[in-house]
Amino acid sequence: MKRILVSNDDGIHAPDLRALVDRLDETGEVSVMAPMTEQSATSHSLTLHRPLRVRRMGERRFAVEGTPSDCVLLGVKRFLEHRPDLVVSGINQGPNMGEDVIYSGTVAAAMEGALIGIPSVSFSLATWEERDFAAAAEIANRVVARLLEMDLPPRFLVNVNVPALAAEEIRGFRVTRLGRRVYNDAVIRKTDPRGHEYYWIGGGAPTWEPSPDTDFAAVEEGFVSLTPLRLDFTDDAGFEVLRQLEFSLA
Ligand code: MN
Repeated sequence: MKRILVSNDDGIHAPDLRALVDRLDETGEVSVMAPMTEQSATSHSLTLHRPLRVRRMGERRFAVEGTPSDCVLLGVKRFLEHRPDLVVSGINQGPNMGEDVIYSGTVAAAMEGALIGIPSVSFSLATWEERDFAAAAEIANRVVARLLEMDLPPRFLVNVNVPALAAEEIRGFRVTRLGRRVYNDAVIRKTDPRGHEYYWIGGGAPTWEPSPDTDFAAVEEGFVSLTPLRLDFTDDAGFEVLRQLEFSLA
């Protein structure tokens, strides 16, 4: 039986995590290593400056007083008896598309898995409203089962966004690229009751550049979006620009 390590950034008690684990139990031996409390938008942070406490919540179930990346690292290096075949992160409440994958704790947990050489996948449900996660969990289980059949390269990483639709309304799957967000009024300035200014990041409704092969377009049109991601951020065009500058100490 294949082994699956599940983590998330909404915390071990999140209903979305439970919905996912209930389905994945049919597909593999599931271990859960998830943050004790919600860690959304913590990105790829590791806890380096304080002790990391781990609480055992049940058989192969652990809660960590840390970030999603901490969970995957501790799980693989210390807590799991066997190296998992796949790291699964999610299901996140809220989309993780375009540049938002940079801030996402959900994607970071999967990225940590890929960094330590285990194929990994992150799942997000593209709505911030309270939802029944059953349809998304069903889709996630289907994707995981397919991935486990494949002989994936060790640093394989895929980010999945599921549209917030009933199962029968989802139109299918699309392999996509990361879209590009347009930030409208991304930082809002207000005045508090004592007359002091404060700022609030993330105001205004998110919009994105229209482009047909992106994650945004797929989800908007009712498809499950699967975006392969790479860990090598090196920009080939930038590489050539810098080489032409011919930096030298002479
Ligand atoms: Mn989250």
